[in-house]
Amino acid sequence: WEQSGDDYDYLFKVVLIGDSGVGKSQLLSRFTRNTFSLDSKSTIGVEFATRTIQVPFFLCSALLCLVDPQNLLSGTRQVEGKTIKAQIWDTAGQERYRAITSAYYRGAVGALLVYDVTKAATFQNARRWLKELRDHADDAHTVVMLVGNKTDLAHLRAVARGDAAVFAEREGLAFVETSALDATNVDTAFQTALAEMYRAVS
Ligand code: GDP
Ligand code: MG
Repeated sequence: WEQSGDDYDYLFKVVLIGDSGVGKSQLLSRFTRNTFSLDSKSTIGVEFATRTIQVPFFLCSALLCLVDPQNLLSGTRQVEGKTIKAQIWDTAGQERYRAITSAYYRGAVGALLVYDVTKAATFQNARRWLKELRDHADDAHTVVMLVGNKTDLAHLRAVARGDAAVFAEREGLAFVETSALDATNVDTAFQTALAEMYRAVS
């Protein structure tokens, strides 16, 4: 757990978008508090939650590592040395009425576009969410991570991984499947997205 107070190099606003019920709030609580609830009503409607991370080691340039092998041993701080505070915004259910305001998107450098792998309609709606995001985004380079959530419900799967991968590739999105319930890939989803954002601004 890499929380480190208010000492950071970058503050990134990240927005969660996608249909109601896909697991946005549970992904947020899994990533920022390592908790999960099966009862969505028990979710406290927070505006945003934060977590501070180090940019992953793999971002270290191969050259730097070659020049000074000590960099390989001393880890992230020595090589890239960047601490990113993610301020992740969640909706309070407005997505049900497609009533998300432009204030929600304002200043976002990235988005996690979430669908439910057991509900095909939520994947079909991803295209609309992407359009909404791009209509509101401050610049065209907003990093978007497509997230297929609820992989723990394997017997109910309705969206093939390959179909989502093709869509992501075509739209230039990163893509990962997650389970907020069993925590699979939740850190990966956020950390990969944050690393992309860091690359986009640095
Ligand atoms: P939101 O409307 O997108 O914020 O969705 P919620 O986070 O409120 O989740 C909606 C429902 O799906 C809740 O009952 C959650 O417990 C459940 N849920 C969320 N993520 C998962 C998951 O990864 N697996 C399973 N099985 N259920 C999940
Ligand atoms: Mg929610």
